[in-house]
Formats: sequence, C-alpha cells, structure tokens
Amino acid sequence: MGFILGSISLALAIAAVLSLINLLVAVYAYRKGHSPIACIALFFVSMFLSPIAGFLLAMFMKPSRIKKCPKCAEDIKKDAVKCRFCGADIPPQPVV
Ligand SMILES: [Zn+2]
Repeated sequence: MGFILGSISLALAIAAVLSLINLLVAVYAYRKGHSPIACIALFFVSMFLSPIAGFLLAMFMKPSRIKKCPKCAEDIKKDAVKCRFCGADIPPQPVV
C-alpha cells in the first residue's frame, strides 16, 4: 500500500515538474516575441513530445511579434514606432 501511494506521489511530482518546465518553455517563447497562440501551441508540443522539442522550436521559429529595424537591422517589437537600438522612427507596418 505504501509502495503504491509512494508511486502515485512520485508520478504526481514528476508531472508537476514537467508542467512547470512546459510552462517555462511557453514563457520563454513569449519573451522571445512569439504570439500567445504560438506559446500555447509550444506548451502542448512540450507536453506531448518533449520540453526540449518545444524549447528548440521556440528558439528557431520566427517570432511573430518581432520585426527588423530598417535602419540598423536589430530585432524590435512589431508595434514599435521607434527603434530601441538606434532611435530611428519606424513607419507602422500594414497588417499582413
Ligand atoms: Zn534601429
């Protein structure tokens, strides 16, 4: 009996740690500039495949909330009207 309870709590602990890691992948993706929908998708990728797959996807996928500054080519937020690196004024982009 004690063994079964121990196994259950161990499984629960592992599940808790895994969902925490999956959550971290989603937060990382969001901070990198991915849209909330992409972050949720990455969360499920982490859950069903592996957090490493989700993390790698977040790393290599092109963030949708990021664009390049036309003046200095640094990555800036899509909604930015002023580059935070060189201070150039960015004309608002038409919605694609
Ligand atoms: Zn710039």
